[in-house]
Amino acid sequence: MPSPATAHAVAGLPAREPVVELARMGITAFTTTRAHGDFSLAEPSHVAANSPRWNELQRSLEPGPAGLVSAVQVHGDEIATHEDAWTGWRRIEGVDAHIVLAPRGAAAVTVADCIPVFVAHATGAVALVHAGWRGTAAGLLPKVIAAMDCPAAELAIHLGPGICGRCYEVGPDVYERLTGWQTIRNRHVDLRALLAEQAKQAGVVDVSASVWCTKCDRDRFYSHRGGDAGRQIAVIVAGTSDSAPFP
Ligand SMILES: [Zn+2]
Repeated sequence: MPSPATAHAVAGLPAREPVVELARMGITAFTTTRAHGDFSLAEPSHVAANSPRWNELQRSLEPGPAGLVSAVQVHGDEIATHEDAWTGWRRIEGVDAHIVLAPRGAAAVTVADCIPVFVAHATGAVALVHAGWRGTAAGLLPKVIAAMDCPAAELAIHLGPGICGRCYEVGPDVYERLTGWQTIRNRHVDLRALLAEQAKQAGVVDVSASVWCTKCDRDRFYSHRGGDAGRQIAVIVAGTSDSAPFP
């Protein structure tokens, strides 16, 4: 019996969905697709099966990056800042956002409906945010924008592949926490629209969004609400002022 991943995979699907909006700034950023395989590390069996894929991806970015960092994600509002270069793939505890200042250092977040938010500055400083409803309600993105320590108007933000407003239905409590509006029934919310609004409120002008919905486009991406246990990753590589994107 085919696994859900192979059952839904599209022939000829590219392994990576690049963020072309940031490539213009010399920043390499992408989200993997089903063609790249499952990156979930949620269970010990996933760690054994999928860690080689993480190491392989880290090596595929060389000789560019200083290293690749990811974290056990907790839907919280903690940020890890990586200033010094490292090597290999490093996994840390309990954060949902990374700021990478080390030139050519890379960060990854694991997603399957939650929104990966890519943040870049012309100096090469970057950030990557895992934003589900909890992170969005907690204002994690504005917190990251403030922690970047540069004018928000100079940042470029891209909201990557994630669940769309038509697919994402939440209960009254979550809806109120996200919007401040009370309701007595389930409602649909567009997390990317909320995150874009947060970015604009924080002073960011350059905000773009992926056309892909992980649930509508489940043939390309893993979707938690679509019933997948698999996960894709979003990756961003810090640049330097003279760096160019690489394939
Ligand atoms: Zn959708």
